[in-house]
Amino acid sequence: MLKKKLVGIIGFPLKHSISPAFQQAAFDFCGLPVEYQAWETPAESFEERVRLLREPDCLGTNVTIPYKEAVIPLLDEVEGKARLIGAVNTVVNRKGRLIGYNTDAEGFIRALEDDAGFESFEKKAVILGAGGAARAVAVALLTAEVGELAIFNRTTARAEALANDLIRRLAVNGIQSLPWNDTLLNEKLSQCDLLVNTTAIGMAHSPRANESPLAEGLIPVHALVYDLVYNPPETMLLRLARLKGARTLNGLAMLVYQGAAAFTLWTGEKAPLGLMLDKARRALR
Ligand code: NAP
Repeated sequence: MLKKKLVGIIGFPLKHSISPAFQQAAFDFCGLPVEYQAWETPAESFEERVRLLREPDCLGTNVTIPYKEAVIPLLDEVEGKARLIGAVNTVVNRKGRLIGYNTDAEGFIRALEDDAGFESFEKKAVILGAGGAARAVAVALLTAEVGELAIFNRTTARAEALANDLIRRLAVNGIQSLPWNDTLLNEKLSQCDLLVNTTAIGMAHSPRANESPLAEGLIPVHALVYDLVYNPPETMLLRLARLKGARTLNGLAMLVYQGAAAFTLWTGEKAPLGLMLDKARRALR
């Protein structure tokens, strides 16, 4: 019998990840002899786990919190977009050499355009958060030539560092980092076309599950409200936005699109998107 190839996801913790469910379904549907495993990896075994990716039977891995930046020095090569973002969420094993990619930006923009029909060119966008996901979102929006980008974060210094880094690496204008206060939030949010929550607030099993990062009064009615959180499917932010009459989008399509792009990088085959979305939705029930 043909020996199965391995691929997986490295992160910590991984208990709630739904990637194994929809990725395995995709390999099975395409008749590919591949097993997708959850490699929950504490910090002390991280380097060894990455080293094992070089084995001939391993196609590569997804990388998630908290290792998207830490994995970079352990790789042989990092593709252009991932280098720009400064984070890797997909690793491909090419004959023992490890190549890093970032498919989050692609997943984010594809969901924005295909699922919400939003065209970013010259629009005003506000990002809440300045972590790894915010970096991918910002690069995706700037690449799509958004007109104005305001970044708010609990830790202002981190938003400043992100904005300065983007200005330096992408040589673009129109990026601002701002302290998280209601006056400045109101000023930017009342004029924006797109609000993206990249903070973990509202995420199931987190300390601030069932909360919204913004008070109801600050949520813009005329903007598209896009929450990267996908569990629960309707976060408190999205619920408040919907009840006010705003258009909303959750993070599930982005998750599946970034996974589909990784699937293609590992196999060279087109991913069965409809099936992956269906499996992802079922895994959340
Ligand atoms: P990260 O690098 O750890 O960044 C977390 C961000 O959330 C930081 O800006 C942090 O602010 C903020 N934050 C966390 N707890 C907070 C709190 N209690 N109050 C205020 N701000 C808080 O994580 P990440 O990789 O960017 O991921 C962020 C979220 O995006 C997660 O919910 C993740 O599941 C989601 N995500 C979704 C997809 C998808 O495909 N849908 C992909 C990637 C990420 P400080 O800087 O002040 O700590």
